[in-house]
Amino acid sequence: MIIQSATYLISSPDYTKCPKPDRPEYAFIGRSNVGKSSLINMLCDNHKLAKTSGSPGKTQLINHFDIKSLPDGESPSGSRNEAWYLVDLPGYGFAKVSQSQRKQWEKMIENYLRNRENLINVFVLIDSRHSPQKLDLDFVNQLGEWEVPFCLAFTKADKETQKEVSKNVKAFLDAMRKTWQFLPRNFVTSAEKKMGRDKMLQFIEACNNE
Ligand code: GDP
Repeated sequence: MIIQSATYLISSPDYTKCPKPDRPEYAFIGRSNVGKSSLINMLCDNHKLAKTSGSPGKTQLINHFDIKSLPDGESPSGSRNEAWYLVDLPGYGFAKVSQSQRKQWEKMIENYLRNRENLINVFVLIDSRHSPQKLDLDFVNQLGEWEVPFCLAFTKADKETQKEVSKNVKAFLDAMRKTWQFLPRNFVTSAEKKMGRDKMLQFIEACNNE
């Protein structure tokens, strides 16, 4: 998939205010500082699209980006241009937010994830430098209960040796195996090295064509 354009559209306080659900949508979520903005910018080839390291935890809104893309091998004048939404969801696990802000976040995220009819897939970002964290496991288990389709994207893979990253990925999947019969698709990524970009975009393209 070739990204032709990626533009910020709107930030919404809840799912009822989101843009008309007239195209496939892919959401990104993870704990604050996991590298979500960097990954979104890397996928879209735009360093300024999502704000990196602004003020973690502050933006409690559903952020829509309008993406225009072309399938691999299609000429720019081809007729198979695709339009989809990329959604940057506010991160979880930020220590400095109040209890009431956290509750508000939970309600907004739950409503969005369970009701957004054009939502095709959620990419749950996990920091590849760490062993499985309860917060991340709780979140994916919650998605399972809600029957929301998701993939895992392990981030910052350039920061550790490949061996350490593989160990952490395996440990996370092993932890999931305790309660999950089928494991989700996973991507190992680095915004720094543009790692995982092709595979994630291919996955989105395949979903768009389903
Ligand atoms: P967010 O809060 O999840 O949106 O995280 P950011 O994208 O703002 O990234 C948090 C910090 O991690 C920033 O200092 C980024 O430069 C750094 N970071 C993010 N992704 C990568 C990566 O793939 N490799 C490296 N080395 N650093 C990264």
